[in-house]
Amino acid sequence: MSEGNQAPAIGIDLGTTYSCVAVWRNDRVEIIPNDQGNRITPSCVSFKESERLVGDAAMNVAASNPVNTVFDAKRLIGRRFSDPLVQTDVMLWSFKVVAGHDDKPMIVINYMDEEKQFSAEEISSMILAKMKEIAEAYLGCTVKDAVITVPAYFSDSQRRATKDAGTISGFNVLRIMVEPTAAAVAYGLDKMFSSERNVLIFDLGGGTFDVSLLTMADGTIKVKSIAGDTHLGGEDFDNRMVNYFLEELKRKHKKDISNKSRALRRLKTACERAKRNLSFMAHTTIDIDGLYNGIDFESKISRAKFEELNMDLFEKCVELVEKCLKDAEMDKTSIQDVVLVGGSTRIPKVQQLLQDFFDGKELCKNIHPDEAIACGAAVQAANLSGQGNHKIKGLISHDVTPLSLGVGLIAGEMSVVVPRNTNFPTKKQKEVFTARDNQTSISSYVYEGERATISGNTLLSKLWLSGIPRSPRGVQKVGVCFNIDADGILSVSSEHESTGKKSSVTIRNVDPMRPKEEITRMLEEAERHKSEDERHKNRFVVRNSLENYIYGTRDTISTKRSASELSSPDTKRIKDEIKNAIQWLDENNFAEADVLVNKRKELETSWNPFITKGSS
Ligand code: AMP
Repeated sequence: MSEGNQAPAIGIDLGTTYSCVAVWRNDRVEIIPNDQGNRITPSCVSFKESERLVGDAAMNVAASNPVNTVFDAKRLIGRRFSDPLVQTDVMLWSFKVVAGHDDKPMIVINYMDEEKQFSAEEISSMILAKMKEIAEAYLGCTVKDAVITVPAYFSDSQRRATKDAGTISGFNVLRIMVEPTAAAVAYGLDKMFSSERNVLIFDLGGGTFDVSLLTMADGTIKVKSIAGDTHLGGEDFDNRMVNYFLEELKRKHKKDISNKSRALRRLKTACERAKRNLSFMAHTTIDIDGLYNGIDFESKISRAKFEELNMDLFEKCVELVEKCLKDAEMDKTSIQDVVLVGGSTRIPKVQQLLQDFFDGKELCKNIHPDEAIACGAAVQAANLSGQGNHKIKGLISHDVTPLSLGVGLIAGEMSVVVPRNTNFPTKKQKEVFTARDNQTSISSYVYEGERATISGNTLLSKLWLSGIPRSPRGVQKVGVCFNIDADGILSVSSEHESTGKKSSVTIRNVDPMRPKEEITRMLEEAERHKSEDERHKNRFVVRNSLENYIYGTRDTISTKRSASELSSPDTKRIKDEIKNAIQWLDENNFAEADVLVNKRKELETSWNPFITKGSS
């Protein structure tokens, strides 16, 4: 048992291909071996006529029970069935996936002679339950508290789905932790640096790639920037090899086995093994007896060929490293440590490209690539449950938001409330004013993205507040508060200051299936449209200034004039013109800057002599 006779809290790395569980005990992290004595457990579930197998047992029957053995469920979490990436995966999987409600991908399984459908979250909960079982057998007690890791690029709905999976499997989920941060905690464990160090975590696993730039000082770990791809990892390298051999089979044996699930599964397993071998050898062989219709498939593949098949993917990893540095506004020479995490970092070409990028810098390979994340999660779990000791108590991590969050303003402006790469937990507030006279309700549209206009960003949710007292425009205000909790889950609330009326929403419950992992694409788009966005920003500035001028003139007239002036023909004329100008603004929300400038000139010519006269 742990210190204080409390059931220990555990850390779980819920990986795409493998999962790992660890605990902080006796002043150190212990990786918990499973019932087979293995320190990592395949994230795999197999359904048989009378039983359900998870982990190694499931993997062992994958070839004989291909259509009912599920792996890679993490690649489906939070995606739509029609997502092209899902479609590509589905072609290579031996189990069936169909579109469920709202285009949600559902895994179709025959279990106990009945056809059943499971979501990716349900499969994940089965794997988590297995990890719980492994921990309980090892620790000899019931385990409740856990920290579970997710890729940094997981959206809120994916984090939430993972948290839900943890709850379904009987855990009290203390925290959803981002994988690279967990790796950084593991890395920082024996390095309580006194001076600040910049560390780049390069995490290339089975299904996802995460790169994070962190600073470590006095045991505090701060994430500066993150980049990555939720669909780039060892599985993709395997698939490239699978496709290569599928073509060879067509050529040599005139057989297309791409929709023969059992044969495909066996080929995939053989390719994964070959890939591992190629990390240590220059050539390897594939040898599958009775692959299909009596064909004994035997072939060779060289490391050079494997590299050629995957070069674009390897290069993409380095491009994302470059991007991460750019986002943090750091030069590669300011990085003290480049830390490798994830099984796929064993690939020599990946290491070479990365080392070349860092001008030959030695890469840190001294943390265990398969176990580092679980190790960091276990430390976090111990700290959060009060079971950590002096050695780890100071080790605090701060994660960052992958995209900017904000509210949409009239004229289509994106007003950023939480900028990209902000550390969380965090709480930020923005004041939104009524845009029209006598406005009795305010709608706040919550957006995510890097574009200057809301049309280029993603609408996450809408909050609506009614019952606002009638007043001139700009008098009534609503405070919109963005709250991102320690798990990275966002809630937004709006409150009307004088009446205390409130409205709130937890984001992405609204649209849990949004394919949020298109973050990379969104960032690239923002970069591409930079000059267009600058034009829009200029438009918003000019528009705001024109709006202030019109309403300012109205206020000057109504508050500063004597009774005789108020009834003068000039005042009447200007009042009419103001009314028309307000209407013009409403009707020309998207007017370009030059049109707005001309409008301003026109109004100034008409109004300024009168205003100047009045104030002199
Ligand atoms: P992870 O998600 O970190 O557990 O990484 C799993 C991925 O690492 C899988 O795609 C494995 O095939 C891959 N992997 C493990 N060992 C090696 C190796 N020696 N060479 C290449 N890839 C490997």
